[in-house]
Amino acid sequence: MPKKQKTTKDLLQAPKGMRDFIGDDFYKKQGFYEKAQEIAEYYGFSGIEVPMLEHEEIFSKGVGDNTDIVEKEMYRLKTKGGDKLVMRPEGTAGIMRSYIEHGMGSLPQPIFLYYGGPFFRHERPQKGRYRQLYQFGLEIIGSEKAVLDAITIQTGYQILKETGREITVKINTLGDAEVRKEHLKLLKAFYRKNKKLLSTKDLDRLQTNPLRVLDSKEKLTMELNENAPTFISTLNNESKKHFKLVLEYLDAAHIPYEIDNTLVRGLDYYTHTVFEYVTYDDKGESSLALGGGGRYDGLAKVMGHTKDVPAVGLGIGVDRSIEISKEDSFNPKIRKKPKFYFIQLGYEAKAKAFDIIEILRKKKYAVKHSLAKNKLGLQLKKAEDLKIPYALIFGKKEAIDGTVIVRNMKSRKQETVEISDLSDYLKTLK
Ligand code: AMP
Repeated sequence: MPKKQKTTKDLLQAPKGMRDFIGDDFYKKQGFYEKAQEIAEYYGFSGIEVPMLEHEEIFSKGVGDNTDIVEKEMYRLKTKGGDKLVMRPEGTAGIMRSYIEHGMGSLPQPIFLYYGGPFFRHERPQKGRYRQLYQFGLEIIGSEKAVLDAITIQTGYQILKETGREITVKINTLGDAEVRKEHLKLLKAFYRKNKKLLSTKDLDRLQTNPLRVLDSKEKLTMELNENAPTFISTLNNESKKHFKLVLEYLDAAHIPYEIDNTLVRGLDYYTHTVFEYVTYDDKGESSLALGGGGRYDGLAKVMGHTKDVPAVGLGIGVDRSIEISKEDSFNPKIRKKPKFYFIQLGYEAKAKAFDIIEILRKKKYAVKHSLAKNKLGLQLKKAEDLKIPYALIFGKKEAIDGTVIVRNMKSRKQETVEISDLSDYLKTLK
């Protein structure tokens, strides 16, 4: 069926699943990134930024062809030169590409990295799900040590606690590649035996990506999964040791966690530890996933690198974290609460206003103003509406004299101050 032509009204809407960040939304997102970066820096991570587009194979090989995000959700584009590029649906594969490209393996290991920004998934839009979503991610690349799984989980946990909500970590292990292979066989046999209980969707998953059946939201499958063989019972000694250590470190870090035998996470590249951060609603009934991650020791090889590069990482959903955060959790440093409202009257004052606003900026005073307005009453009303404590009134006389009237908006007391003394005088005001 030919697609219905979009009307002009349709075209003046942001694309489906995408949105504008305006006012508080803009500042909260900015504040979230500021806080997350600050915590990551304190925990020893350094920032990295990689392109939003990558070669398609980075994700089809890295994340896995049979995962939802690669199979159904990638925005693909073909360049004029014939390259097949995709808008990144997740962060880890691109960071690993960068690590390999820049030979970071020859630096002292491991490398601690953080990053953030928009990601793109062509999902069915619903509340809290976007096609342009924002994440903040951490990766520690170049070591297989369990303590790094724990420090990754701890850093993400501390970032999410800034939302003001209680955060619980759900954790599971998939074991190493050998365990994973062995366990897949057991799972397949178990589901085949119980085929009658599976929906068509889960039967499909059983063919393409059997681990995802563990993730199913179908009621019957969820009940069935309670009796599915657990990874923990399939672990070999090495994998058992790794998982035990991770849990011991989490205990030492006082991080509340729940072992969840059905947690597998959607992507192909995970080995050993997988985890998710959830917060419960006020009744403690339903949970919301705010982020997650895991260890991905096999990723580099799958992407075509000659060596295995052990690594662990996480991605935090910024959109959701902001949505559920308590008031005032994420105030960015660049947002200044203005203390002064600048009022000008007449051409001379307007022309000199540039100098005064610049003097104030250099002294780090944020001012609001209505330079496009001319009437005193209108400008005073605006200052009142915005609850700004002082007005700086600058008329023709003041422009000639080189003075400014400083008015306390509450007491209505006014003082005339020389421009040259202005910033010193403002410092004395509460
Ligand atoms: P994932 O990369 O799928 O493990 O997702 C990590 C986190 O990102 C999730 O826990 C969500 O909080 C968030 N997230 C994933 N997909 C979306 C989406 N389409 N819209 C908003 N947030 C998302």
